[in-house]
Amino acid sequence: MRILPVSAAVLLTSTLLAAPATASPPATAALGPTAIGYGGAVSTVDATATAVGLDVLRHGGNAVDAAVAAAATLGVTEPFSSGIGGGGFFVYYDARHHRVSTIDGREAGPATMTSTYFIDPADGQPFDFQEARVSGLSAGVPGTLATWETAARSWGTRSLGSLLQPAARVADRGFPVDATFHQQVADNAAAFGQFDATSAIYLPGGQPPAVGSMLRNPDLADTYRLIARKGTGVFYRGPVGDDIIRTIQHPSVSAHPIGTWAYPIRPGELTKRDLATYRVRRPAPTRSGFHGLTVYGMSTPSSGGTAVSEALNILEQSGLSGADATKVLHYYLEASALTFADRGRYVGAYTSDRILKKLVSDRWARQRACQISPATALTKPVPPGDINASGCTPAIVGGPTEQGQSTTNLTVADKWGNVVEYTLTIEQTGGNAMVVPGRGFLLNNELTDFNFAGTQGTAPDPNLPGPGKRPRSSMSPTIVLKDGKPFLALGSPGGATIITTVLQILVNRLLLDMPLPAAMAAPRASQRNSAGIQAEPAFHTAYGQALTALGHSFGADTPELGAATAMEFTRHGGIIATAEPVRRGGGAAAVVHPTR
Ligand code: GLU
Repeated sequence: MRILPVSAAVLLTSTLLAAPATASPPATAALGPTAIGYGGAVSTVDATATAVGLDVLRHGGNAVDAAVAAAATLGVTEPFSSGIGGGGFFVYYDARHHRVSTIDGREAGPATMTSTYFIDPADGQPFDFQEARVSGLSAGVPGTLATWETAARSWGTRSLGSLLQPAARVADRGFPVDATFHQQVADNAAAFGQFDATSAIYLPGGQPPAVGSMLRNPDLADTYRLIARKGTGVFYRGPVGDDIIRTIQHPSVSAHPIGTWAYPIRPGELTKRDLATYRVRRPAPTRSGFHGLTVYGMSTPSSGGTAVSEALNILEQSGLSGADATKVLHYYLEASALTFADRGRYVGAYTSDRILKKLVSDRWARQRACQISPATALTKPVPPGDINASGCTPAIVGGPTEQGQSTTNLTVADKWGNVVEYTLTIEQTGGNAMVVPGRGFLLNNELTDFNFAGTQGTAPDPNLPGPGKRPRSSMSPTIVLKDGKPFLALGSPGGATIITTVLQILVNRLLLDMPLPAAMAAPRASQRNSAGIQAEPAFHTAYGQALTALGHSFGADTPELGAATAMEFTRHGGIIATAEPVRRGGGAAAVVHPTR
């Protein structure tokens, strides 16, 4: 979201956030895209969420407390990208135990889900994406609230209830609509307009809310307060859950829709039992080395950790020290394509530990890196490697790759050295377009992250739907340690481009030696094993000619890739906190103390 002018942000912070425990209004001096300082930091896509997180840190909360409070606020101010109707992946570095842990709060499908879940019984063909998306079928059991509770209980110092209060106040009193928010509604107006509960909040008077108007969501404030009072049981086993299941099983399509929708709106199969039996998972993080650094990421059902690690390993094998930008970017694009081929073939919710370990191993990277030529780009799509072979032998066909623009990411560090990297989502911008009536939050469409039909020819597809299964994700919250201590933390939204955005920021920082804010701002390109590279116009302009000469092809340019947040931890406790200067309206970074 757009960065608020400092004066507006200070005003917001002082009027909205002052909790009974918060005597003086927090000073939020620096809410631009980069903040440098000490004592903890918060970086999100949104000034209000960053201010909430900073306020928690300033009042003695730790990184986990601040991350949960900021995420809850993003559920209000970035409701089309995240919220308690969705899921996500939380990666945490615990300074006291020197340990990286993760929470898998990914949405789960119904127990009745089979591999043909997204096949239209009428004609045996996969549903159109939008037909599947705006339906009860696409919504999985939301894992976000369970993630917050687990994080707060395991590592936080505040109750979940108290961490929901600032967000509830923002929802009650409202926040200013910016151009990004307005556009997100405009892009989804036809879908939102089919549901009275959605249009009542987001299409006031039948139109997207005007830029500069205040948007309130008292239903969501009440839901947060109900959860704060009674616990998450009201959501997973109580009245909020009943409303979720009713909405999924009997979508309440408006008698007077705003705009037309081309598809029937189908009910879903999720049950109260699916909701009641949902649990977050706590998988070990993925782990790999890169030039003496240790890279930790999110394991399955996300493919983010294995993909970022595999691509970095391939780059490490490619001997790029001292190489110029064109050469580094050539290898970056080739490593991405190879990695996406392997991801398509091998990575899904149930990938075996043996395969996961192999994918992030140096041995595998050597088998893949040997296929890259310094002079000529590979023909895309490249086939996946044969996981059981040794040597430089590829196997058969590749698979298509998806792209989304929703989701949100935040990075938080505290004065004790704990770090949170958290990516959360409701999948598409606006999820499945259904606000749960009376509860104020949108449901996810995460189950459309499954492949609707096999993509791997005669080989099994690891990402087909199955009973209770979680769809494969690309979310890549990443923490990099140097000498056992945090050095970098970063993540981004962007569907499958998340992997390449995280990878490219790391390449910019670690191989091209850019300072972190420049590594973040630099123009991006994404090669996900398809014929054409997807590039931002500035990337195409800067490197198009040189890369085309090496045999790369460009597809249609895209205005922007990702909306990342990141931090670098420097000597003597220094923190460089960054967010996007421009993409998705720019983000907001803040530190607790600008000076030591
Ligand atoms: N649902 C996507 C995933 O989990 C994220 C969507 C997005 O970033 O747009 O990979």
